Amino acid sequence: MRPNIVQQYRGRFAPSPSGLLHFGSLIAALASYLDAKHNNGLWLVRIEDIDPPREKAGASTDILQTLELFGLHWDEQVLYQSQQSSLYREVLADLAQQKLSYYCHCTRAKIKALGGIYQGHCRGLAQPEADSATRVINTFGISQFNDIIQGHVACNQELAQEDFIVLRKDGLFAYQLAVVVDDIYQNITHVIRGCDLLEPTARQLSFYQTLQQKPPSYGHFPLAVAKPGFKLSKQNNAPEVDKNNPIPSLFSALKFLGQQPPNELLQANVAELLSWAITHWSISQVPKSQEIVL
Ligand code: GLU
Ligand code: ZN
Repeated sequence: MRPNIVQQYRGRFAPSPSGLLHFGSLIAALASYLDAKHNNGLWLVRIEDIDPPREKAGASTDILQTLELFGLHWDEQVLYQSQQSSLYREVLADLAQQKLSYYCHCTRAKIKALGGIYQGHCRGLAQPEADSATRVINTFGISQFNDIIQGHVACNQELAQEDFIVLRKDGLFAYQLAVVVDDIYQNITHVIRGCDLLEPTARQLSFYQTLQQKPPSYGHFPLAVAKPGFKLSKQNNAPEVDKNNPIPSLFSALKFLGQQPPNELLQANVAELLSWAITHWSISQVPKSQEIVL
């Protein structure tokens, strides 16, 4: 008989250091942490620092420090995407060699004028490398998938079928490339993150096929908004993530995620609160969509 090998759950939280940890990113950290720990899995942290112009000085350190103060201790070493360039370059070279990518120097304005969806205009054209972005040929064009939280998801088909950018015109690696390559590199089995990344998931699933790799399972929780259409911000009294007072934020984040922590836990310490949350975590209670008026 074949041994029944069950791959260990490996989850991750992958913040971009473009700002400090706010309530929205605390929800992402907590949801991915609890789902991993409830399933006896490992929880990794990856700093997605591939966009220096958008980076805020000191943000990586501050995010990691906040996670620790909130009791969200990660397994293994923190991976910094800024250290992964040679792997990204290798993948780009393989794609080029297999003729699965091409140079494109269409501007945003041009694509907009052509209807907003990139139609593979530069496929087959011999564009010079200089001043070009690199696009991957989107052979699979996956536009539907099953999401652990959202159930069946159907994305805009035209958008999901676009050849997307893997290397930007300014020479920076694109998010789609880095996120997929690193989720493969780190053997991630489960990705729990916010609904702002629902649409990109279709592209990422297509890219897994192109790279002939098995994708992880995805779960997308709703975004925290102050009122419909308004992102959380200080202006609309979003609860501050106070580094020195984690309990109220953790408690609100749990409630936001549809969990029902008893009020006594407001008096507990961080370890007690998280231990309750790991035991009682139920991903089926996470709402599909939610609008909270704070
Ligand atoms: N770095 C991305 C962000 O902070 C998240 C990437 C992901 O979870 O796939 O928005
Ligand atoms: Zn083009």
